[in-house]
Amino acid sequence: MKSWPRGEPPGESVTRRLRLFERQPSQKGEDREMKILVTGGAGFIGSHYVRTLAHRGGPAITVLDKLTYAGNLANLDPARGRFTFVQGDICDTALVAELVAEHDEVVHFAAESHVDRSIENAAEFVRTNVTGTQTLLDAAVRSGLKSFVHVSTDEVYGSIAVGSWPETDPLRPNSPYAASKAAGDLLALAYHRTHGLDVRVTRCSNNYGHHHFPEKVIPLFITNLLDGKKVPLYGDGLNVRDWLHIDDHVRGVELVRTAGRPGEVYNIGGGTELSNKELTALLLTACGADWDMVDFVEDRKGHDRRYSVDCTKICTELGYLPRKDFATGLAETVAWYRENRSWWEPLKERAALGVG
Ligand code: NAD
Repeated sequence: MKSWPRGEPPGESVTRRLRLFERQPSQKGEDREMKILVTGGAGFIGSHYVRTLAHRGGPAITVLDKLTYAGNLANLDPARGRFTFVQGDICDTALVAELVAEHDEVVHFAAESHVDRSIENAAEFVRTNVTGTQTLLDAAVRSGLKSFVHVSTDEVYGSIAVGSWPETDPLRPNSPYAASKAAGDLLALAYHRTHGLDVRVTRCSNNYGHHHFPEKVIPLFITNLLDGKKVPLYGDGLNVRDWLHIDDHVRGVELVRTAGRPGEVYNIGGGTELSNKELTALLLTACGADWDMVDFVEDRKGHDRRYSVDCTKICTELGYLPRKDFATGLAETVAWYRENRSWWEPLKERAALGVG
């Protein structure tokens, strides 16, 4: 086992089981604490979850992350010393069995997450999102894990012209990404029904906030505009998404982990529905640009028209309410990208080179 000094990136020789750094022992008596394994904790949402819990001095956390193109240890810098990091693949049966057995709970964020990449090549989506999830669930059953939170997506429902989906609606995913997430989601629920595993599934809408990889629409548009480059708007720009700030999403996941019911699904939304055109207008204004900076490009294949989750269940059962007003959240996000070029510039280069 090797400790990694703060700030130093892993080298080429890092093995799949290397613990890059270790959590400092707590004053409270380690073995009486809840131990949580967080998969995908170096990604956008997972890292925010880890930073939030570590900041509160909550449970003992281990992050398991493969560090794909989307995983970034720098996302976890503010929490260094307050969690253990293991670089590894959720499809690695032996590693997963070993780690899951050492923990009380799993919060499962790890996934291939970008729809456009799944249209180009779906193989890695099926491997990670389906086989990886099944590998974790098998290990959970074998070790008698206390609970397993599976982070799914509203995209599993498909597209809805009017109204909003309650959790009881059937899954009709359209993109390869959404189909792979639906498979993981249904597997998780099947392990509850078949094995009695305490599984809780969350289905959230589109997240936004800082540390978001600059291939997704909000950070892509902000960083392009900050660089004086045009932004690509798909089709007629009238596809509608519900925007959820990462702070609200993390709070929703924590409510489900700590107070949700086994075998239940909880939608988590942000309450701000915007067409991509409306979102673009807000981003242009925030970055001091105009419509000359927008290229209307050919629509994404099979582009879902509208997503909308009904959040009545999590609101009434667990007291969830989104707190972040969208205008404030968006202004803070733009300001963060303005002030953190050193975080996103290398990632834009990586994405442009198609690395990962
Ligand atoms: P992300 O792409 O930013 O991060 C994914 C993380 O998973 C990365 O750190 C990556 O290295 C890791 N990973 C990928 N494959 C792995 C593997 N085989 N083994 C171990 N680690 C692996 O994704 P995100 O936006 O943070 O999304 C987190 C979760 O939330 C995903 O399950 C995603 O489907 C879901 N979700 C995201 C959104 C959104 O708006 N971002 C919306 C709905 C649902």
